[in-house]
Amino acid sequence: MATINDNYLKLKAGYLFPEIARRVNTFVAEHPDASIIKLGIGDVTEPLPAACRTAMIAAVDEMGDRASFKGYGPEQGYGWLREKIATHDFQARGCDISPDEIFISDGSKCDCGNILDIFGSTNTIAVTDPVYPVYVDTNVMAGHTGDANDQGEYDGLVYLPISADNDFTAEIPSTKVDLIYLCFPNNPTGATATKAHLQDWVAYARAHGSIILFDAAYEAFITDPALPHSIYEIEGARDCAIEFRSFSKNAGFTGTRCALTVVPKTLMGKAADGSDVELWKLWNRRQSTKFNGVSYIVQRGAEAVYSPKGQAQIQELVAFYMKNAHIIREQLTAAGIQVYGGTNAPYVWVKTPHGLSSWDFFDKLLHACNVVGTPGAGFGAAGEGYFRISAFNSRENVNAAMQRITETFKA
Ligand SMILES: *Cc1c(COP(=O)(O)O)cnc(C)c1O
Repeated sequence: MATINDNYLKLKAGYLFPEIARRVNTFVAEHPDASIIKLGIGDVTEPLPAACRTAMIAAVDEMGDRASFKGYGPEQGYGWLREKIATHDFQARGCDISPDEIFISDGSKCDCGNILDIFGSTNTIAVTDPVYPVYVDTNVMAGHTGDANDQGEYDGLVYLPISADNDFTAEIPSTKVDLIYLCFPNNPTGATATKAHLQDWVAYARAHGSIILFDAAYEAFITDPALPHSIYEIEGARDCAIEFRSFSKNAGFTGTRCALTVVPKTLMGKAADGSDVELWKLWNRRQSTKFNGVSYIVQRGAEAVYSPKGQAQIQELVAFYMKNAHIIREQLTAAGIQVYGGTNAPYVWVKTPHGLSSWDFFDKLLHACNVVGTPGAGFGAAGEGYFRISAFNSRENVNAAMQRITETFKA
């Protein structure tokens, strides 16, 4: 019989969201008339911007005409999209990134996992705790860890705790790690990184020959003009960082699928024989071999994000969610609940009141308010005592949920 990749058996079988669903289903079975409001999911709710839809419809028509039909496109993405991204997202912010360092893909989630293809198997890997679970699970699948303990922490990974005690920014490790996952603005905590903090990371990475895997999926939600949107705003980052970006959250592409990964040509890794190898070459080879590009139609939709209309529409979309985040912060604060995040990110990270555990607070919100959020402990041991509330919802649902919570928790 064929053998399997035993590393999959180490995975903590998708505990968080199935457990949420189980508790919600039990409650609904007992209270069939309850109107549940879900503020737990990291998915957008508002429709695709008109500029993107118009561009995709035109692209569909091009595909219907023999003269303008497109077959396989470049595996790295069309030049016209990569140029717009380089100009608008990077060069306009002073980042020295060229179009051919940008690889278009069908999602940051896949890129975060796939990037491990080009790295060796003996790297020391650091993640924050709490963390976006994809960074951890993809390393488990790749055999880069041992088993998990009772808290869900895997042997072999370096966990960098983030909490209110350190302002939700991890301390730079005192030992050498080879790969570091950073996500700013952060999912799940909504925390941001200042330029000074990223400068410390870049200095650390350059001193140790480490590589920062920087997830900027939420950069569009930054409202504070002093905060960096890209790791490449930091001098020297071209030599130590890969950046992931996505159209999922800024332009509502979670179901449409388009993202990008930046691999600077100056970025090097070490081969077994001790020589330095350009990671760009490896990623280009990996994508050319295992990927056949994103649909022409979708890339035209993504390109429209950079048109004047598209820019105005995505700004409106982001502002809509950020108004939700503002309402959540204000109402919870008024109810005497301590909140973090939610000013430069679509997530509000709540300190559970009265010393409740993450899951006890989950149950209380579900039973007393019929509101569903995400227990912080589900994102890592250091998330215990916290709770994530997402701003991705309709205004009506956010207002209704906040009214229920304030009525329940107001002294
Ligand atoms: C939503 C999200 C992404 C984007 O994933 P896609 O696959 O591009 O939809 C990436 N990183 C984090 C932390 C996210 O929350």
